[in-house]
Parts: sequence; structure tokens; C-alpha cells
Amino acid sequence: MEEVTTLIVCEKPDAAARIARALDEDGDPRRSDAQGIPTYESRNKQESILVCSALGHLYAVDSKTRSGRRFYPVWDFDWKPKHLIDKKSARLARWIQVISLLASKADRYINSCDFDIEGSLIGYTILRYACHGADMKAQRMKFSTMTDKDLKSAYNTLGPQLDLPLVEAGRTRHELDWLYGINLSRLLTESAVKQNRGYTTLSTGRVQGPTLKFVVDREEEILCFTPIPFWTIEATVTKNDRTYPLEYAKEKISTLAEAEQVVKDCKGALLEVESAESRNIQQSPPYPFDLSSLQSEAYRHFGYTPSRTLALAERLYLEALISYPRTSSQKLPPDIGYSEILRGISNIAQYRSLASKLAVGVPPRPNQGPKADPAHPAVYPTGESPKRTLTQPEANLLDLIIRRFMAAFAETSLRESSRITLKRDPHRFFLRGSRILREGWIEFYKPYTSDDSQTLPDLKVGDKLPLTKIQAAQKFTEPPPRYNPSSLLRKMEDENIGTKATRAEIIEILYRRGYIKNIRIEATPLALRIISILNKYCPQIIDPAFTAKLESSMDHIQSLQTTRSLVLAETLDRLRPIMLNLIAREDEIGSQLAEVATSQRIAALTFDYPCPQCRSKLKIIRSRTSGKRFIGCAGYEKGCRFTLPLPQFGTLSVTRTYCKLCGFQLVQTRTKGRRSLTSCARCYSNKTKKAGFMSTPTISTSQPATSGLVEATSLVKD
Ligand SMILES: [Zn+2]
Ligand SMILES: [Zn+2]
Repeated sequence: MEEVTTLIVCEKPDAAARIARALDEDGDPRRSDAQGIPTYESRNKQESILVCSALGHLYAVDSKTRSGRRFYPVWDFDWKPKHLIDKKSARLARWIQVISLLASKADRYINSCDFDIEGSLIGYTILRYACHGADMKAQRMKFSTMTDKDLKSAYNTLGPQLDLPLVEAGRTRHELDWLYGINLSRLLTESAVKQNRGYTTLSTGRVQGPTLKFVVDREEEILCFTPIPFWTIEATVTKNDRTYPLEYAKEKISTLAEAEQVVKDCKGALLEVESAESRNIQQSPPYPFDLSSLQSEAYRHFGYTPSRTLALAERLYLEALISYPRTSSQKLPPDIGYSEILRGISNIAQYRSLASKLAVGVPPRPNQGPKADPAHPAVYPTGESPKRTLTQPEANLLDLIIRRFMAAFAETSLRESSRITLKRDPHRFFLRGSRILREGWIEFYKPYTSDDSQTLPDLKVGDKLPLTKIQAAQKFTEPPPRYNPSSLLRKMEDENIGTKATRAEIIEILYRRGYIKNIRIEATPLALRIISILNKYCPQIIDPAFTAKLESSMDHIQSLQTTRSLVLAETLDRLRPIMLNLIAREDEIGSQLAEVATSQRIAALTFDYPCPQCRSKLKIIRSRTSGKRFIGCAGYEKGCRFTLPLPQFGTLSVTRTYCKLCGFQLVQTRTKGRRSLTSCARCYSNKTKKAGFMSTPTISTSQPATSGLVEATSLVKD
């Protein structure tokens, strides 16, 4: 039999390594590092399997003709290698070369990227453009975990061809986003630039615009909010030396007079127990995690932003510890092998005794939620033990996922909820209590459940007890709460804009662009201005309903109810007149944007805290020669050489908070997929000086100041 050579395209290098190992008969594939790009050769019976990987997307949408980066509107586009579009992707040229070379040796091709729209598209573009049109004959490998067992079984049950409906939906999404983003963002940026007040990258997009509008709308509600006063009654009773808070029957009292009357009527009174009721409440286990509920639980318990949770989950997935996290399913189908996973979990010391309590003798059955996903089940642990020491955040997330999984298989919990009514005619007060009768799933999901148990004094109808304290308290109605990254993500999901894979990233972009700030999200003046401009000149662009309609068109491509070319044509018909109208009003728009963009840019770069040597203003500077960023002094021309080092990666901004140790103004760094860091450049500098590796960028003194330094033009560029 002739030997077959198969080429498998994976999405990430770690995935390639794992797949190559699973498919090699000795679990020891041959690794090569041609041009620094890792590829593998696995042996399997009569077959040689070449495994290579992408690095995310290697191809992207770009304008067909090479018109300048600042030109618009652009309507003609093409898919091109990313390294030809973006200088930062230069290293991808070698990846494509290496993959092309492997492809020429192969006679069978498999797309093994993540099984979803993005993965299908990444594999498709590589097979089509780097592998000489191999997309036509390629097969699809589908799996939800990276365990050896699942990978082998996926390899033995390949899809006969690429999942073209997914590919088409993915292409359309990228093309639409590009058309929107490029045209609108260039228009905003350039219209402001033409006002000659310096450069700031401004952007909006198909999903970005409506998302920012949620925040801006909330900001305006908060700004316009008028608090209305009301009164509540605060009262307690005491029994056997224990004090219990009472609830007055009327939660909010609208006038002071009425509240004072209640206090007057009841002060020092003896309350009589009128009734005591209790009822039992069964509570079902929580549903298995889909990505967004995982993101919101991780935010609630650990404070991780959605994008950070996704990055952590992705790492756990690549190490075969959990299943594919980009899922919207709350279901766990039996074929994932419940018992085997539970057995695996019970081999991990900290869960041994808990896991052994689950379903002895009965076949396990999870409590499942209504949401489904055709491609993947809910997020679940594989039951494998970590092969290395996990970082604390990784361990936290894995613990949350394991406990949630076990909880889904546990019994309902039973809680008794009681209410005692006390009277002093015509007034009624309540004492509320609650206790757990049967823990059920709560035992497995601890410490991620809140214990709101509240014991009640032993009282029966007719008993009397004295009111120990009563007073009226004035309160005010509160404005709606600000979004946080987790609730904003949920809002996007509820309004059906963006996808589970992209929502977290969109929120990060809004931060990096300087449109939103803080964890309790505030819209900046720049965001308010941009949204008000878009609202005035092209309300459709930021209308969530319009974007949601496009999202469902793209779902319809996937279900073959419409086609990519129809959706594109429809969108262009709408977008063209919008753009022409905006271009006609460019000067007007630019003058409204330039001022606020400039003042925000300068604010983000300038410190209030003066130079300790000459009292001039301190600024974030980028060295024109080395490209390095540092804090420099505006007194440079007068001879002041004060500098402080800065982190070189991520988006920087000067905050309005100050170092507790030295009083210096803190700088915030945002990096994709990481926690944002707020740090003191001065304390950092002192530390590194002591440690003997001072890293302040040196400014060559022989250089004239003006050419040696250039103010970092934009911090909101990414
Ligand atoms: Zn100075
Ligand atoms: Zn400090």
C-alpha cells in the first residue's frame, strides 16, 4: 500500500503540539523548527501526518487596490496575507511559507482549527491561499476537548468536507466588519485630523458603536438623574439577648410626616405576634457553564474581566483540562462520558471526598439549561489532573468549573423560608428567616454560593415582645448602576450584538480607545461626543436593533437561508448613502470632534504632578530614535533631564489617582487578555535602581531636543 501524507492545519502552536502527540503511535512526534516555526510529523500505521499551525488569522480583509491608508470610502476588498496589510504581522510571512512547503508534500488535508466560525475560517483561508486551493478537497476534524482520546476519535470520524456554511458566515462577518470599521473609523479620524489639531485614532464599528451607545445612554441617565427622597423605618426587637432587625410593612414611605407618625405610634410599644408562616423552597442546581455565565461568575467571585476569563479558559482548554470555552451551550450530552469525568475528578486530592458523594449507584444525570450550541457542549472539566503547577488565576477558574460541573449532577437543595408578622395596630412588622434543610448541590458549589441563612427567635402566635429601637431614616432614590465589564457583556448578549467569541474583545477596544474608563464603567467626554455625532448624522450605525438584524442575517447564512452575497449587497446599499452623507458633512463633524479628542489625548499623556526637579509638567514621551516610552519633563529644553521608565507594552494612560507611598500620579497599562495594571513609575524606578538594573531610557545628550523627542501621538492606538 502506498504511503499517504496528510497535512493537518491547527489554530495555535500549542494545539498542533497536542494533536501531533495524540496521533503519533508512540506519542512522540518529530518536531522541526524550520525558520523558527514549529511543525510536527506523526507516524501512524501507513501514514505520515504533518501537523502545522496558524497563529490566529494569517489572512485578512483589505482594500483591493492599494489606495492610501487614509483614503475613504472604500468598497472593493480582497482577502490578503496579513503580513502584507499590517507591519506588525511581518513574521507571519514565514508561517505561510512553511505551511505552503508542507502542503506541497501532502495528498490529504484536514482543517483542525477550533470548531466554530473563526476556526472554520482560519483553516479555510490557509487551505485555500497557502495550500494551493486545497480547501476544495479538505476534510474537517471536530472536537470539544484536547484529550488524547477525543483527538484520536475526532481523527477517525472526520467530516468529509469543510463546513462551508460556517466559513461563509465567517467571511461575511469579517467583510462587513471591515467595511463598517474602515469607512467610519477613517472618516472620524480624518475629519478630526483635517482640523489641524494633531492626530488621534478614532474608531467605531458595527458592534463597537452600539456597545458604546449602551454605556453613553447609561451615562446620560446618570447625569440627568434627580434623586427623590423617601423614608424607611429602621427597627429592631430583642429576644434572649439577641437583636433581630425588623422590616416595616411599607418599604418606602414618601413623606417625613408619615414616617414620623409610625415612629411616634410604635416607640416603646409591645409588639404582638400575629402570624408565623414558613414554606419550603426547592432550588435546582445551577446550569453547566456557557461562556457568558462563566465570565459573569468569574467576575463576581474573582473580579476577572470577561476577556481575562476567556484568555485563562483558553489556556486550560489547550492543556486538555476543560472543554472548548467559546460555547453558548448549557447542555452536557451523555457522550462526553459523565462517569469517566467524575472518576477523573475524584483522582484529584482536593475533590476526592466530594466527588465520591455523587450519585453512588445511580446513573448520573446533569441539570441542563435551555441554551444550546450546535458545535459544542457546555464548558466542562475533562477530569485530567494538571501536569504543571497552575497559576493562581488558572487554578481558581478550573476550581470554579469543576465545582459547577459536580453541582450540575447533585440533588436539589431544600430551604425553609419563614416570616413572622408582628403587629401594633395599625402597623405591621416582619421578621424574616431562612435555613437550609438539605444542602444538595450547594455542598458541591461552595464557596461560590452565598449563605443567606438567618435564624429566627422561637415565637408563637400571641407572644409579645418589646420594640427595642425605632427610627425613621431618610434615603434617596438612586440612578441606575453603571455597567461593569461583565454586565456590559451580558447586555450585548441580551441585545444579540457581537458573538460569544468577540464581545469581550470589543469591550477591551473601547477601553484602549479611551472611550470608557474604570471598572464601574464611565463614558469619557470623547465617547459622549462621538455618540452624539453618530446619533445626529447616522443613527442607524449605533442602533442596536439594526446591528442585531445583521447578526441574525449572518446566522441565516449558516443555516443556508440566505447567502453571503445577498447580505453583502444589502449592507452596501445601506452603508453607501450613509457614508456619502457623512462625507458631505465632514468639516462639521471634524470640528466637533477635534477639540474634545485633543484635550482628552493631552489629558491622558500629561501628569498633574509636577517635575520634582524643575516643577515643569511631566509627560509621557516616545523616543523617536528607539521608539521607547518614558516619562519626560517639559523643561527638557531648559536643561532638565528628569525621566522615569514606563512599561513598553500595552496602552498607557495617566490616571487621576496617586501613589500611597510617594504621592506620584499612577499610570495604567492595559494589555489584551490581562488584568489592567496601575503602577507608580517612581517607586518602580527606585526599586530597579536598587536592584542594579536601571532601565530608564537614555536620551543621547548630543542630540538636539526637538528631534530626539516626540510626544507620543496617541495612547489610544493599539
Ligand atoms: Zn523637570
Ligand atoms: Zn510611588
